[in-house]
Amino acid sequence: MCAAPTDDRDARHVSLASFGEDATSRLRAAHVLIIGVGGTGCAAAAALAAAGAGTLTLVDFDRVDASNLARQPLYTPADIGRDKVAVAATRLATQHPGISIKPRAERLAGEALQAAVHAADVALDCSDNFASRFALNKACVDTGTALVSGSALRWEGQVAVFGPDYANAPCYRCMYSDHDEALDDCQGAGVLGPIPATIGTLMATEAIKRVTGTGTPARLSLYDGSTGEWRQLGVSKNGDCPVCAAR
Ligand SMILES: [Zn+2]
Repeated sequence: MCAAPTDDRDARHVSLASFGEDATSRLRAAHVLIIGVGGTGCAAAAALAAAGAGTLTLVDFDRVDASNLARQPLYTPADIGRDKVAVAATRLATQHPGISIKPRAERLAGEALQAAVHAADVALDCSDNFASRFALNKACVDTGTALVSGSALRWEGQVAVFGPDYANAPCYRCMYSDHDEALDDCQGAGVLGPIPATIGTLMATEAIKRVTGTGTPARLSLYDGSTGEWRQLGVSKNGDCPVCAAR
């Protein structure tokens, strides 16, 4: 499917240098998988839907909680207790009726996760724990799918892009050793409300670049909201990585 970018909504993309009608059409034909529709996932999904990504699959088994509302703007107090993906899909479809949104209120693992990743052009890791992050990374490496990783904690956030050439480039797992699995999540350590939105919006930009073949993928980008400073780092392929080293 490749819808023609005739709509006024696409005007600013069509007139954008190095983007134009071709990239706009590729974006309309793209399928983006978003794992986790919390802070980063809400922002990424909202930006991608508004930009005209043709198909979004949203995966999250969680339900809306009052503590989510400070940083997850797709949800309102009336949504508390409902499945996040159902609420997010309804809200995004109302705002952007031209795109297809597939909500999946489940915890994907194993072959189901691999199939979902394989069906997408790019996967966004908007999850909040290392077990999910490592499982999604493995599925991306196994299927040769690009991964946009993002996270936010306390005053800080980070974004990085991996793959799809995992034989010659690092995967997400290359950055961590086994004992890193016990790192904090935002429930325990807290997070400032706008930080996940900052990171999720950047993830959407990286996904758009990936599916349209425009721009250059971001290096590992680290943001410290307490000082407003950014740092960019290179990630090296880890020869002992349990996921990608043998590829
Ligand atoms: Zn690796």
